[in-house]
Amino acid sequence: MDLQLSQVFTEQKLQHLRALLQAAERIALVCHARPDGDAIGSMVGLGLILESLGHGVSAIAPSGLPQPLAWTAGQHLIIEYDAAPQRARQALSAAQLLIHLDHNDITRTDPDLAADILATDTPRVMLDHHLFPKDEFALQFSYPAASSTCELVYELATRLWPPERITPGVANALYMGLMTDTGSFAHSCSRPRTFEVAGGLVARGADIPTVRNHVLGSYREDRLRLYGHALSQCMELLADGRASLITLTRSTLDGYAYQPGDTEGLVNEPLTIAGVNMSVMLTERNPRSVRVSLRSRNGLEVNRLAQEHFNGGGHAQASGGMLRMEFAEAVEHTKARIAEFFGG
Ligand code: 5GP
Ligand code: MN
Repeated sequence: MDLQLSQVFTEQKLQHLRALLQAAERIALVCHARPDGDAIGSMVGLGLILESLGHGVSAIAPSGLPQPLAWTAGQHLIIEYDAAPQRARQALSAAQLLIHLDHNDITRTDPDLAADILATDTPRVMLDHHLFPKDEFALQFSYPAASSTCELVYELATRLWPPERITPGVANALYMGLMTDTGSFAHSCSRPRTFEVAGGLVARGADIPTVRNHVLGSYREDRLRLYGHALSQCMELLADGRASLITLTRSTLDGYAYQPGDTEGLVNEPLTIAGVNMSVMLTERNPRSVRVSLRSRNGLEVNRLAQEHFNGGGHAQASGGMLRMEFAEAVEHTKARIAEFFGG
């Protein structure tokens, strides 16, 4: 990845953004479906800065926030589209500018929300770190080498505004995205710059124990027991121990009063086994709707697999997708694709 940050945040693009911001009394921020720490952190972090500059701000989350993410400053900005679609539509139509965070394809929000967004002629800005941005934004800041969108919000903010705009509340929110998208600085952070940004956030008041306690230390008992059950009962090794598959049926999830976000991070665990370089997890959402999560390490790439066989995509070593079929059929399909991948 040879793209330099200076090519992403050019003076010309920053000037374009300044002009769009100046013309926007109201701004709507939007993040991706099933928001994670980076989606929420980037949205409330940037949202709070824009609010402090006098803009009216709404932060639209396509669906509800898992409890460990709902603690940051700026919760008053958030509108959950699935719970309050009418309010979200009002916020969209009142805005003179839309800013898309942590996704680069409008369909990654929600099918209905995407239709609502595409029905407006409001200028759209995108700030994101996923590969292959779609050409559907008036202005885009795309940098796939960044650890997280929160890192890019920091890069943008420090180019546009004085450091004081990054209050401790903003710093905590942005630190949350760096921490969660790198698995606590375990991956996706090979650039020194990510650590400089983390340091910059600490200097602006981010408190690491506070962020960790909220995000990684406030789960329900059921969630940890589901983890234990999944690893001991629902995981199998495939391809001579080079791959792992975790299968979670609706009834297993129901047994632990599953809530969105409960299985976040679970798919990473099999990669702690020597020799396992690919981990796949299938989660039965609804009848004939199976969520697929893929992770890899040691240079093995899963985004192509996600694209070609699981109706999805993502990063080289962290991808996702969806299978619309019976769960048993999805398990067979996945096993066959894994065997194929490893030349079996
Ligand atoms: P997760 O396994 O956490 O749901 O997703 C991991 C990563 O894969 C996400 O951060 C996102 O970049 C990508 N991803 C997940 N689902 C999809 C999808 O349906 N389409 C695409 N293009 N990317 C996805
Ligand atoms: Mn992200």
